Amino acid sequence: MIKTAQDIKSYKRQLKEALGDRFLRKALDNFNTAYRENRPHVYQGIDFEGIRDEIAAGKDAGLPHLKKMFEEFKVHAEAAGTKVHMAKDALQANEIIARIAREGGVERIIKAKSMTAEETFLNHHLEKTGFEVTETDLGEWIIQLRREGPSHMVMPAIHLSRYQVGDLFETVTREKQDSEDIDKLVKVARKSLRSVFLEADMGISGANFALADSGVLGLVTNEGNMRLVTTLPRIHVALVGYDKLIPNLQSALRILKVLPRNATGQAITSYVTWIKGTNPCLSAPSAHKEMHVVFLDNGRLSLAEDPVFSEALRCIRCGACANVCPIYSKVGGHKYGHVYIGAIGLILTLFYHGSENDRAIVQNCINCQACKSVCPVDIDLPHLIKKTYRAVMDQERQTPVKNVVLSKVMKNRKLFHFILRKAYLAQKPFSKNRPMIRHLPHFFEKKHGFRSLPVIARTPLRDQWKPLSPAVARPEYTIGFFVGCAIDFIYPEQGRALPALLGGHNVQVGFPMDQTCCGLPALMAAEEETAREVARQNIRALAPQKYDYILTLCASCASHLKHNYPKIFKQDPDPPIGLGEFTDKIIDFSSFLVNVLNVSPKAFKRTGKKVAYHSPCHLCRGLNVVDEPRQLIERAGHTYVPSKDEDVCCGFGGSYSVDFPEISSAILNKKLDNIEAADADLLVTDCPGCVIQLRGGMDKRDGRIEVKHLSEALADQLTTDDSQR
Ligand code: SF4
Ligand code: SF4
Repeated sequence: MIKTAQDIKSYKRQLKEALGDRFLRKALDNFNTAYRENRPHVYQGIDFEGIRDEIAAGKDAGLPHLKKMFEEFKVHAEAAGTKVHMAKDALQANEIIARIAREGGVERIIKAKSMTAEETFLNHHLEKTGFEVTETDLGEWIIQLRREGPSHMVMPAIHLSRYQVGDLFETVTREKQDSEDIDKLVKVARKSLRSVFLEADMGISGANFALADSGVLGLVTNEGNMRLVTTLPRIHVALVGYDKLIPNLQSALRILKVLPRNATGQAITSYVTWIKGTNPCLSAPSAHKEMHVVFLDNGRLSLAEDPVFSEALRCIRCGACANVCPIYSKVGGHKYGHVYIGAIGLILTLFYHGSENDRAIVQNCINCQACKSVCPVDIDLPHLIKKTYRAVMDQERQTPVKNVVLSKVMKNRKLFHFILRKAYLAQKPFSKNRPMIRHLPHFFEKKHGFRSLPVIARTPLRDQWKPLSPAVARPEYTIGFFVGCAIDFIYPEQGRALPALLGGHNVQVGFPMDQTCCGLPALMAAEEETAREVARQNIRALAPQKYDYILTLCASCASHLKHNYPKIFKQDPDPPIGLGEFTDKIIDFSSFLVNVLNVSPKAFKRTGKKVAYHSPCHLCRGLNVVDEPRQLIERAGHTYVPSKDEDVCCGFGGSYSVDFPEISSAILNKKLDNIEAADADLLVTDCPGCVIQLRGGMDKRDGRIEVKHLSEALADQLTTDDSQR
């Protein structure tokens, strides 16, 4: 049975156990890498963004009309002999199905894979009521025998090794099994299930589509079991969520273009079955099957009306948001979801299974944007996860103390900066005047000692700035420099590199002193109101009308300023003046140097140093900036050496690395192993947060590879001749 932790302390204990499962980590890591590598191949020649936008728009257009589509479906389905039922919640759906079974004199039931049936815990209900239920999808059968829930929406037993399955089959069949031979294991299932198919009185399935204009159900599968479940027994019941209602076949065919590609990296799936009405059936006394469709609401109809969360109902259950998630790949679906797993699971759990099952898991998102980038229906998953966390806190009227403190401090820039300045003194006993804190006090060291920590700078960049950027008489560009807290107070040298690199380019740089934190940490903590307050302060301070561009060297700040600011003010009746102009003018460091200034390789000395690159999540996925940083590495006279999984998160995520240090360090170590395997001399990245993580991790493992922000790596290479720039 599913035992999702209901408090953060037990959740962290569970996570630790999962991290200790070496098979699970290896299997999921390999799957994650293979999926990401294969996915582009199956999308070759297909306009993913175009289809994605069409499906999303189609789904959104249908959501306000779910009830109407239900009525339409009902008319057509009933005309073909199908009985259509409505269930307001999970219990009612289970009771309807149990009643159909009772009235039909059913003893044995077979089932095809259905996440909706998992949602209602249908098997449990039917078994308790006295029916014998057998899952017939291989993965589902395995987990049914183990009495556990699926760990992935498409591959329910992905968490198990062949040896675990072999042992299980030995217990079930009381025969020795050869776990090395997967084909033989599959045959065990086939042999055991064959008679069950033939003896069943009732088959239960879900459905991927319910076509309103025809009363047809569409089912997508890779194993032939679904066809047997829906054709052999004399009664077929389909349990279908309201969200599966779509207008017509055309809408379904559009979804079919992406569903198998996204789910398992296949261009087409093995079976697509369309069912309408009471088809002929040899085992039925009337020679025709009895057919029922049970539509499940369970919160969907009110969710469809929610201005923020209705987006989650676009989900077509492809499972890709788990496939690419760095957290899922470390701990698996049993710890990264309740019934629904992965990014969408962190959201749907609140609505389908209550805040008690979501309150711990919803906090475990590093905001890497990987799920969003592959979602074929364009759900803004990271954003909705934070919204869900807020909704959980509001529902339970519980706000963690750290959130209260964070909000108080962040809203008050002067207080925030005062604390940061004082931190320089407070850290002295630990830093011992070295640039990194290698050992934390004993209590912290055990959990958080996976990386050395940077020290707070003696003098923040804002206090050094004036002489660094003198007035330019007739500037070609005037930029406002959004510095971000990490560069201002920890790594001023990264910011000092900027005026050095812009020298000779006729650029005037302004550093408005009233700017404060971008507000991303507040949004990560689901403190949207605080995030809005600091956003107002920044827009006021940066006064966008004064600048051609607002430039930042921090990928996370850039993405937050550009994309999250409009989102957090979406429902605000009084958004800040200049918001649109502000977000339009945000530009990241690499794009400015390559696309605006077109910096010349002549400006740099040539060393041919081998340089690896870590692509920050918020740059490559948040801002879609991919080539520019790599071009800059080459232009600066280095040799760019590719490394594995360059665009996978480094495990930092701001406060995430403090809240979930074991997961953060597991992600970091894999990243550093990949960098070391690339045999680079230097690792560069363009986010100071990633520098904290990567440099700290490299230092802690006594690695030989230096870690720098791209701005420093470029400034180091500058020739002294300004005329070359
Ligand atoms: S949220 Fe998107 S990526 Fe995740 S399962 Fe649903 S459709 Fe697939
Ligand atoms: S944003 Fe990243 S960590 Fe969060 S759910 Fe999506 S993939 Fe996972």
